Amino acid sequence: MEVARTIAEIRASIAQARAAGRRIGLVPTMGALHVGHTSLIDAATARCDFVVVSIFVNPTQFCPGEDLEKYPRPFERDVALCEQHGVAVVFAPTPEEMYPRDNVTWVTVEKLTEPLCGRSRPGHFRGVTTVCTKLFNIVLPDVAFFGQKDAQQALVIRRMVADLNQPLETVVCPTVREPDGLAVSSRNRYLSEQERRAAPVIFRSLQKCREMIEAGERNADEIRGAMIGVLREVSALKVEYVSLADAESLEESVQLQGQILAAVAAHLGPARLIDNILIDVPDQ
Ligand code: AMP
Repeated sequence: MEVARTIAEIRASIAQARAAGRRIGLVPTMGALHVGHTSLIDAATARCDFVVVSIFVNPTQFCPGEDLEKYPRPFERDVALCEQHGVAVVFAPTPEEMYPRDNVTWVTVEKLTEPLCGRSRPGHFRGVTTVCTKLFNIVLPDVAFFGQKDAQQALVIRRMVADLNQPLETVVCPTVREPDGLAVSSRNRYLSEQERRAAPVIFRSLQKCREMIEAGERNADEIRGAMIGVLREVSALKVEYVSLADAESLEESVQLQGQILAAVAAHLGPARLIDNILIDVPDQ
């Protein structure tokens, strides 16, 4: 397995792979790899025969005061994990390689980036869409793989690819969870033992939502209220949002119908945790 540090190096490997007729898969990550990431890598190796994993803690998607400096960077371990999972090349550029000068060119997706995480993280999605476009232009993947764990990000990227006719397919893989339901995340390591024990309350609130819909409830306020009730079981949890939105437009629903994205963001100690589930609301 190769580790490419520069754009020139990764471009040379990609050119060879292309010339050999390989189908190229890209898994963009910020490193600190876990089973969520390796599920994406495994999906990529199943569908492509040359898999590139990018490891880049992208500064432009962090807001002032966020965890850019302390974001975990266990690089050797990440490289070993990629090798074990059949990755062809790890692309791990420095910030200077990706942003050699003051960046003045941005890719912005409107509307879909405004609600949910967009409200508390101004500029975050602009950083994500810009870095993904740069990675797509550098790696020229046939397929790029994203996780449902970051539902709004996956939707925003799919929309960008469609709107800009970016020549690749996107695949969104299911959220990998711990046995107690907590969505696996690089940021879970910020939690104390006690916070870690309490964190599955977020998934329980999403399950409550699903149960209520299955029992016939369609009023979003009722369901949101019940979800907040579940979340209040953990007094240390500071809820940022509880959203029941149309899964395509991300507009908040009043009466639930069609496909719904139920999503929660909350702070627990030093960690900001997000989770979501997609629910197909049955016709009544
Ligand atoms: P990150 O390194 O946090 O930027 O994540 C890189 C990719 O892995 C994104 O597409 C995430 O949605 C995805 N991902 C992160 N956690 C999980 C998880 N628990 N299950 C599935 N995909 C995940």
